[in-house]
Amino acid sequence: MNRLSDVIWHRLTGLMPGELQESEMAWLLSPHRHIPLVTRRRATVIVNRVRLFSFLFAVLTPLWSVVDFVVFPFPLWFNLALMRFAAAAAFASLLLYYRPNGNLFDAYRAMGLLFLIPTVFYVASHTLLTNYQLTGLSAAIGAGYAFLPFVLLAGLSIFPLTLAESVLISSPILLAQGVSGYLRWQAMDWPSFAGAFWLLVLITGVATLAGMSQLAFMLALVRQAIRDPLTGVFSRRSGEEVMELQFTNAARHNAPISIAFFDIDHFKQVNDVYGHEAGDKVLTDVTGTVGANLRRGDTLVRWGGEEFVLVMPNTDLEQARAALARLRGVGFGMRPDNTPVTASVGIAERIADNVTDWKLLVDLADQRMYVAKQSGRDRIVAQDSLAA
Ligand code: GH3
Ligand code: MG
Ligand code: MG
Repeated sequence: MNRLSDVIWHRLTGLMPGELQESEMAWLLSPHRHIPLVTRRRATVIVNRVRLFSFLFAVLTPLWSVVDFVVFPFPLWFNLALMRFAAAAAFASLLLYYRPNGNLFDAYRAMGLLFLIPTVFYVASHTLLTNYQLTGLSAAIGAGYAFLPFVLLAGLSIFPLTLAESVLISSPILLAQGVSGYLRWQAMDWPSFAGAFWLLVLITGVATLAGMSQLAFMLALVRQAIRDPLTGVFSRRSGEEVMELQFTNAARHNAPISIAFFDIDHFKQVNDVYGHEAGDKVLTDVTGTVGANLRRGDTLVRWGGEEFVLVMPNTDLEQARAALARLRGVGFGMRPDNTPVTASVGIAERIADNVTDWKLLVDLADQRMYVAKQSGRDRIVAQDSLAA
């Protein structure tokens, strides 16, 4: 049984070669394990989509009044036009008010409002239209108003959402549709209602898959953009972004954050004696062993050649020193001549070192790494002056 699900899983993941790694598959289901960089980019994409569609709807919604004017009798087209202009104003303010700022909750709110405006419009116009007995063309246009929930749910597909998010957003709409059908059960043509409801569920399913595949594509792009190609750890540029984000966060909550700057000892020798490829192998071994011994939330960054920065949020100086001592105990892998790889490490921490900027924190750790080099390599320096 287990084997069967394994086979199916591998078949499925095999259908997306090179797009997602197995560990990233779970990211399609729910957002709570997404790394901050993914969350930020996703929030930006979502808000940009909301703004695009707010703009389109702000223009198109009032334009349709022309059609209403032609096909509907007087107070009806006028009242619909009022509703349309109110909706257009709401869309326009959404466009003006929300700017991408990387905050996922702002993005959720913007998306919620984008869905709320047509929902209110739908309920209001629907209530209004039920007061009229329409025939011919006006009946056809009137019936068109009933399709709004379909458009809404299909609209989910423009956002890079996880399964859980799509279900959460679509279920109130489906529920409302279901409840309103249930309340009118006696009076209406229930087979056609049930058919329409089923179609709504199918559209939701397709839109959810479309959103997840957008997300998969985005995750793959983000990974390629943020990883160092040789070692697979964070590249310097994205490492800087992570640090800025986490440092600001730590400062806001007055929480500790530690940085370890480490540089492999006598690495050039490996290249000179055994060749560049042997050097590359040492580098990937180092990131492999360090990476396997990190806490969740820690980030390893390739700062340059054989220099790495380890970002440890919520870690004070003593804990950072202990973590690095543990890493040194595990070892950084082996050199081609079967002697252990060693590194010189400098550690700095926001509170203990009274630092106000992540760049200063990195500089400090870098200086201490240099002190570690000068005082004999293969050691950790976490304080000024006491090094020698
Ligand atoms: P120290 O103990 O003082 O740090 O000595 P070192 O030899 O490690 O330091 P140095 O900075 O002189 O040498 C770093 C070397 O790393 C030089 C460069 O050729 C090599 N290097 C940088 N990037 C890569 C890479 O991607 N692959 C390989 N194989 N070597 C690299
Ligand atoms: Mg170096
Ligand atoms: Mg070195």
